[in-house]
Amino acid sequence: MEENGKVLAFDIGGTKIAYGIVCRDGSLAGKVTKVSTPATQEAIYSLLKKIVSQYENEVDAVAISTAGTVDDNNIKITGSVGNLPEGYEKTDFQSLSSKRVFVVNDANAAVWAEYKVGNAKGKKNTVLLTLGTGVGVGLIVNGRLVTGKSGAAGEVHFPIRLDKKRRCGCGNYDCLEIYMSGKALNLDAKEFFKDDNATSYDVIAGVKENRLPAVEAFNHWQNMVLYGVVIFASIFDPDVILLGGSMAHFIDYERLNKEANEQIVTAPFVLKEAAFENNAGIIGAALLCMEQSS
Ligand SMILES: [Zn+2]
Repeated sequence: MEENGKVLAFDIGGTKIAYGIVCRDGSLAGKVTKVSTPATQEAIYSLLKKIVSQYENEVDAVAISTAGTVDDNNIKITGSVGNLPEGYEKTDFQSLSSKRVFVVNDANAAVWAEYKVGNAKGKKNTVLLTLGTGVGVGLIVNGRLVTGKSGAAGEVHFPIRLDKKRRCGCGNYDCLEIYMSGKALNLDAKEFFKDDNATSYDVIAGVKENRLPAVEAFNHWQNMVLYGVVIFASIFDPDVILLGGSMAHFIDYERLNKEANEQIVTAPFVLKEAAFENNAGIIGAALLCMEQSS
């Protein structure tokens, strides 16, 4: 990319839209601004358009990290947009700017940021598992982003038990996601506390004071995270597996590193927390945009 090498990057999620200007080296030029995600597709488009017109002259391109699967040419969304408003998947991102507009799935953007400038820097085989409402999976194999034929590689919607205990957001029962996500810890809280109002915050608060049943709820959830980590370690033989999302702070990395590496038959890998809690989507989308246009 010629000119100043800066990219205006957005991270669009169901709750918040964050944006900032990213430099060629992956650093942020100034602060990241966050706004609540508007309730309709039209309002989201108008907001993006307004922000783009404000900064367009300062940058060479616009990069968008978004929920949903994205086409191979990084032009548009092809499906599955989670908790964003109806019609969002039809958003015409290309009409936002006369400059290049690059669209990428948020989990893919995030793992790219970790690989280029984060806690998996230079590690050509990296898995990022972001534990949020769902589980965002970003995969780098032999230095390349793995997306699959429709951009959905790494989805954890396969059952890990067969007795139909929990319904997943996808409609199926007992997917790994509904046991390993941040949302799963909320469900564990309700089960172990026998209280429908209990949440993951009650679990974390109880764990800090070493109280039951919080410790049991947390251990149940953490064992499911371990289970997921072992699955990804076995399939991808990675150098590093990173855990992201706010709940990743509370994982016992020493214990899970040891236990996961005892369970796998491949060479050892390292389990770590991701470097970026919030800005990985913005940074990764901008870096991929620069890379693919240079
Ligand atoms: Zn599912």
